[in-house]
Amino acid sequence: MQNGIITKGIGGFYYVLCEDGVYECKARGVFRKEKITPTVGDKVVIEVKNGKGSIVEILPRKNSLIRPAVSNVDTLVIVTAAASPSPNLMLIDKMLVHAEKSGIKPVICINKTDLADRSDIVDIYTKAGYEVLSVCASKSENIEALKNLITNKITAFAGLSGVGKSTLLNILTDAGLETGGLSRKIERGKHTTRHVELIEISGGFVFDTPGFSSLELPEMEETELENYFPEIASLAPDCKFRGCSHIKDAGCRVREAVDAGDIALSRYESYCQMYEILKSAKNYK
Ligand code: GDP
Ligand code: ZN
Repeated sequence: MQNGIITKGIGGFYYVLCEDGVYECKARGVFRKEKITPTVGDKVVIEVKNGKGSIVEILPRKNSLIRPAVSNVDTLVIVTAAASPSPNLMLIDKMLVHAEKSGIKPVICINKTDLADRSDIVDIYTKAGYEVLSVCASKSENIEALKNLITNKITAFAGLSGVGKSTLLNILTDAGLETGGLSRKIERGKHTTRHVELIEISGGFVFDTPGFSSLELPEMEETELENYFPEIASLAPDCKFRGCSHIKDAGCRVREAVDAGDIALSRYESYCQMYEILKSAKNYK
């Protein structure tokens, strides 16, 4: 028996990275009966007999990302470009809601800082309580901060196509190689984007999330939404209106904070837009 982590699953086989190497494993039938599917990122116990591996236990999951299906994700790095493509704040806010709801720590990463100064975006998200990293892949600037962030963690990279995710991941893997780590070039979008794979870097793992940028909001009641905007959630208890949606009511505590500039207008607009989307989705049903 030994412990490992599932880094890839293809056609009923799971590739489990253990201390002494990777084992191709099948899952025990009992998981099917219990309706548990082994998932990339799962910490598992495997048994190897006659060169054949089988997964005998899946350790409790800390969280799960849905698309792609990955368990135990520590951090979601939401990559945006300072320019080209232009930042889409609503998309960033949507990804933040996903991260908050799934219990994954989000970090905003602004790449291509050689093209434009986006201290406005830095302000918006630091004000909301998020960690923001400004990097420049083409000049290898501040890559160390990104590397520290992913060390010993499972990290998802998300963002619009063209923001520089693969460039960043390649720099990070090359950096890993220099320090004697395992390295693999990230070949993004060229093939099998359907199969998510954990890439080992800096004692941790990274993976790409193609399709995450077109993701719908997670299903929830519109009243639940405020919990996933930390700066709104922290003020909501102070609102004098019971069950306030913080949308229209003059005198609402959240509205006051928006007017005072303590909550960024773009964040508030995203909140209102998402609230309406969730509400009308429910009416439609
Ligand atoms: P992905 O679709 O998010 O994986 O984006 P890519 O890594 O493929 O990058 C898209 C384009 O942006 C490529 O032409 C990169 O060379 C370019 N790029 C990446 N990082 C930077 C940067 O920091 N500055 C500039 N100016 N271009 C960059
Ligand atoms: Zn309110």
